[in-house]
Amino acid sequence: MKKIVFATNNPHKLQELRQMLGDRYEILGLNDIGCHEDIPETGDFIEENAQIKARYVKEHYGFDCFSDDTGLEIDAMNGEPGVRSARFAGPGHNSEANIDKVLFRMLGVTKRTARFRTAIALLQGNEMHMFEGKVEGVILTERRGQGGFGYDSIFQPLEGDGSTFAQMSPEEKNRISHRGRAVARLVEFLNSQQ
Ligand code: IMP
Repeated sequence: MKKIVFATNNPHKLQELRQMLGDRYEILGLNDIGCHEDIPETGDFIEENAQIKARYVKEHYGFDCFSDDTGLEIDAMNGEPGVRSARFAGPGHNSEANIDKVLFRMLGVTKRTARFRTAIALLQGNEMHMFEGKVEGVILTERRGQGGFGYDSIFQPLEGDGSTFAQMSPEEKNRISHRGRAVARLVEFLNSQQ
């Protein structure tokens, strides 16, 4: 079985990929290879950050690797928070503070279109392959729903029945989500290789 690192420690993301790739690849997380340091995410674009993480693992640990990075792009905010989605309200702030900052910036704004975009960078040997997934939606004026994480409670995808991501089951969300779509493209590529 070929070993490949997924540059994450998120057990849900790892589990999902392991299920989708069956027994063709052994998917290792960062913990599994003893990588406990914070990999610097210094890129100006999500694509750059995904590539930085994949290259870091290859250079320091020698494994083929893929890495994902996601941003929420709000049109009326010129694509912000984008690559800064995780730390939009500043270091040490959580998702609730990030949402508060978005809602404040969007007060009185009528054009509320936005999208989540995920970039996955796969580094195999010296070759970098990129995969993208996105989902279009609108930013609500207040939170709705209890599930999910991050900005889910203020993001209503255009597809679906008007629910926010935070009102959907994980399965419903994965079917149409940015990350679900990017991962599906990665899996299709990896499965076509053998
Ligand atoms: P990451 O690249 O997956 O770590 O995502 C960066 C940031 O984007 C996260 O910290 C969240 O704030 C936000 N984000 C990513 N994916 C989602 C999602 O599916 N729903 C809501 N927020 C998300």
